[in-house]
Amino acid sequence: MAMIETMHVDLLRLPLPVPVEASAAGLMKGFDMVTVRLVDTDGVTGSGYTVLHEGQGASVAKVADLPFRDILLGADSDRIEWLWRQMYKRHHYAGRGGPVAFAMAAVDVALWDMKGRRLGTPLWRLLGGYDPTVRAYAGNIDLNFPLAKLLEGGSASVEAGFHSVKMRLGRPTLAEDAARVEAMRNHLPAEIELMADANEAWRVDETQRAMAMLKPYDLVWLEEPIAPDNIEGYAYLRSLGQIPIAAGENLHTLPEFTSLIAAGGVDFPEPDLTTCGGITPFMKIARLAEAHGLPVISHGAHDLHVHLLAAAPNAAYLEWHAFGLDRYMADPLTVQDGFATAPERPGHGIDFDWDRLRAQRVDI
Ligand SMILES: [Mg+2]
Repeated sequence: MAMIETMHVDLLRLPLPVPVEASAAGLMKGFDMVTVRLVDTDGVTGSGYTVLHEGQGASVAKVADLPFRDILLGADSDRIEWLWRQMYKRHHYAGRGGPVAFAMAAVDVALWDMKGRRLGTPLWRLLGGYDPTVRAYAGNIDLNFPLAKLLEGGSASVEAGFHSVKMRLGRPTLAEDAARVEAMRNHLPAEIELMADANEAWRVDETQRAMAMLKPYDLVWLEEPIAPDNIEGYAYLRSLGQIPIAAGENLHTLPEFTSLIAAGGVDFPEPDLTTCGGITPFMKIARLAEAHGLPVISHGAHDLHVHLLAAAPNAAYLEWHAFGLDRYMADPLTVQDGFATAPERPGHGIDFDWDRLRAQRVDI
């Protein structure tokens, strides 16, 4: 039995190659990343991370660094479910979501990575081993782009190998949003799929109007049209049968996904392991979706999510937006002919350039 011997937590502030804007988040010039590195008594290492908007990482790093350190050091590193439950239970009063869920994610990924590396097995095989080839789509963040630049972004994604492209909605009027979707649909080749993400821009009544306006453009899905916790609103909008709905990046627990799915509020559940507590709950959400006859898609962190979707028979789409993180990795994931392939390297297989990352370190 190997025990966790050392733990390093770092808060990094990384600039984005190009500033981007989405409705709920506003303009983003950089992002925070909290990393957790573990070493066990056999010398096996595991690394995990979570990402947040710029300036939001300090509380997450603090939770991972102090309260969780007490739980992890000296513990059997293979008992991931038990360790996850300890983190959840001991912090449920100020947790069940929020910064605690993000901190748990960074730790949980490090534990799974460590387990994979110890066994010499890639995560996608360890978690279920369905199909290493996963359909990927370009999750472009382009709300602030003028029309010409928006369309250029669509073309660039197709040239980069994607067969599916997402654009952002939430301009000042629905008419402008509809005009931009129409322009993109006419601009992209007919065989390229199009999704749209409103990032919570609308009320239920506005979404109902938007769906009627957008229906002719054959969207694969409309994502997060309303606030993430308006479950009745999601159920009502889905009952209209206009455009399939994706949601979940702003849900932070398995019970929240259970409520949304049980209410019939979503066609494409979209968990993000970096926001919902890690790989452990993500896989439960993926199985929950499967049990309800639904697909599962991922949000961000594609280098990690490719393993999770490759483990799930109901995997549909891997969202791709690198946030420039691939600059700090030895072998970043690639897309070919619309698909990404989970690597065969042990664990998550990500080898960060820690010296370069450390240069971006800020105090916790
Ligand atoms: Mg989204």
